[in-house]
Amino acid sequence: MIGYGVAAHGGVGSPESFADGCLAACESAFILLESGKSALDAVVEAVRVLEDDGRFNAGSGSVLRLDGKTIEMDAAVMDSDRNIGIVIAVRDVKNPVLVARSVVDTPHVALAGQGATLFARKRGFPPLGRVSQFALARYENLRRLMRKGGFADKDLRWRGHDLRSLWNYEGPYDDIMSCDTVGAVAIDRKGILAVADSTGGASPMLLGRVGDSPMVGSGFYAGPSCATAATGIGEEIIRRMLAKSVYDMVSRGDDMRVACEKGTAMFPREIPVGIVGMSRGGYGISSNRPMATSVLLKER
Ligand code: ASP
Repeated sequence: MIGYGVAAHGGVGSPESFADGCLAACESAFILLESGKSALDAVVEAVRVLEDDGRFNAGSGSVLRLDGKTIEMDAAVMDSDRNIGIVIAVRDVKNPVLVARSVVDTPHVALAGQGATLFARKRGFPPLGRVSQFALARYENLRRLMRKGGFADKDLRWRGHDLRSLWNYEGPYDDIMSCDTVGAVAIDRKGILAVADSTGGASPMLLGRVGDSPMVGSGFYAGPSCATAATGIGEEIIRRMLAKSVYDMVSRGDDMRVACEKGTAMFPREIPVGIVGMSRGGYGISSNRPMATSVLLKER
């Protein structure tokens, strides 16, 4: 049995050599758990650290949209006491997860677009500032891919679709694959379970595109049985409601580790997907591509 603990991931596809960033996130969250703070505080702290890292596709590392200018970010928090806060397509905010946490203290559970951005400004959350070198490099990779002949063979969502005819950015079609997301799950001394995630999205994507990360039951879920955080191609995760599917497996008696493995096995190999989960009995991590992760636990 786990007394308290936290697990974090840097997104499916993130190199395992980035695990030091996940460890830093877990260490910062673990200090909070040790001092008696809530699982919600802990996951928010872990994801904030990952957002500020710059190597992951969240916060200052968020992937630029296809116009090379726009950044739209999603983030969510939830705990087993039914606290939920979500921001969708928020712009120009340094730490979307802190804004999502702040939504918990409103009458709503989700804020989107301009309303989310204005809410963040009003609550005094700092603007994004400069995006990281990693985010810029990721965008340059996309452009290279386009010049070489497109990305449809790299990203099955785009097979049979013509980007030029779907282009919805204000600027003209120019030229333009990456995905990653960060997430954390935790359990506190009282046995409350929580999850937080944050992403710049799965590129290439149209303006306004929303993935699984801010969708309850798809990218994240927390309840009395466990907390789960998914990563991968959002459209496919939403079709299978991955986070809630894995949650239900644990509720029906599966071990957390086994449930995570069954979760990723729901996807064909060509779809990158990963999930981390935390229950009172243990944690689980599974992915079908490399994924930077870290876990810190205090056994009972
Ligand atoms: N799930 C995220 C999205 O589709 C991306 C990721 O996890 O890599 O927006």
